[in-house]
Amino acid sequence: MALLVQKYGGTSVGTVERIRHVAEKIRAARRAGNEVVVVVSAMAGETNRLVALAHEISEMPDDREKDVLLASGEQVSIALLSLALKEVGQPARSFLGHQVRIETDNAYGKARIRNIDSTKIVQSLQAGEVVVVAGFQGVDEDDNITTLGRGGSDTSAVALAAFLNAEACEIYTDVEGVFTTDPGICQNAKKLARISYDEMIELASSGAKVLEIRSVEFAKKFSVPVHVRSTFAEVEGTWLVKEDESMDDVLVSGVSYDKNEAKITLVRVPDRPGLAAQIFGPIADAHIVVDMIIQNASEDGTTDLTFTVSKTDHKKALSIVEQTLPALKAKGVRVDTDIAKVSVVGVGMRTHAGVAAKMFEVLAREGINIEMISTSEIKISVVIDAKYTELAVRVLHDAFIGKQGNV
Ligand code: ADP
Ligand code: ASP
Ligand code: MG
Repeated sequence: MALLVQKYGGTSVGTVERIRHVAEKIRAARRAGNEVVVVVSAMAGETNRLVALAHEISEMPDDREKDVLLASGEQVSIALLSLALKEVGQPARSFLGHQVRIETDNAYGKARIRNIDSTKIVQSLQAGEVVVVAGFQGVDEDDNITTLGRGGSDTSAVALAAFLNAEACEIYTDVEGVFTTDPGICQNAKKLARISYDEMIELASSGAKVLEIRSVEFAKKFSVPVHVRSTFAEVEGTWLVKEDESMDDVLVSGVSYDKNEAKITLVRVPDRPGLAAQIFGPIADAHIVVDMIIQNASEDGTTDLTFTVSKTDHKKALSIVEQTLPALKAKGVRVDTDIAKVSVVGVGMRTHAGVAAKMFEVLAREGINIEMISTSEIKISVVIDAKYTELAVRVLHDAFIGKQGNV
């Protein structure tokens, strides 16, 4: 018997009717002779509702209690799906993260999976049950509930597939696969039959939320075959694969955008060795991930230092920075939350020049100002005013990929 790990996202289990549909799909996979471990997200909108509740009570909610709250969304969906499976005659058993024992570190809100104990899952499978595991959550070594970060059910699923040595990890969602850009905002977006792990890591890290970045990192590290596909249409989706030579011919395989970052600028800080360490040390200690950084030195011996963090972390980052302002003798600090990062990604960039120049030209033609730029071997990202996001994505997609797609 092959073991499949299937993950169903929030929209796929958003109503009772959809949960029944998912139960039918799982039963069909069982009848086709597979053992099935299912990971589910909270019902659509539920995690956002819980986040809003926490922020109604407290401007900066305590991280531990926020995780206890957010993890409750998945408890509802695993129970409802297990009930629906039993209704169609398929034995099933639900498990919370701590019941399986999905062990993580203690970084609340962005915990990393360290280990998964498969004993109970294997027992349940041997008893002929479908195992339904709550995504997005784990437990630290002191038994505190942790969550993995938004979209983290993807990571739960891929990690389970890796630890259980599953045949494949199927990510069922509300689109038919990974597209050349978000099909929600660009009607010319084309489904990719396959995409390399590295390209998917770059797309995910630059906002393509169809897969959460750590899930792709896990998949790459443990060579997990991942198939992203639709819950609602019986069609082949997108396979994550190892890079091969044929992929070099494609200059840009995807365009992504991220509206979830904020920009913080320290204005006119006296320039001296150790400055950056003094600013970013405490930010790292608070587990805040910094994305882009630019520094402009001026002739009067001061420097403007700008960096981006996720919007969820920006208030915390700001309060840390404000505490260091007197010691840094900075003139002040500015925050901008109306920004977007737009990126083009493709392994072909390793061997072809000119992608950055073309990207800047296309944006200039539309009068879109570039506020920050960063590059990696296979990605170029720019920060722009958020109001131009959709326009930038569309013109870049048309310029690099075109209406026919490149696959
Ligand atoms: P789920 O709830 O199933 O986890 P998500 O909302 O997290 O689903 O991810 C699916 C969404 O990702 C799609 O509805 C789509 O709008 C968005 N998306 C962004 N970029 C892409 C892309 N390149 N390909 C496919 N979907 C994308
Ligand atoms: N429910 C969580 C979220 O909305 C995890 C997930 O959906 O993957 O972020
Ligand atoms: Mg998701």
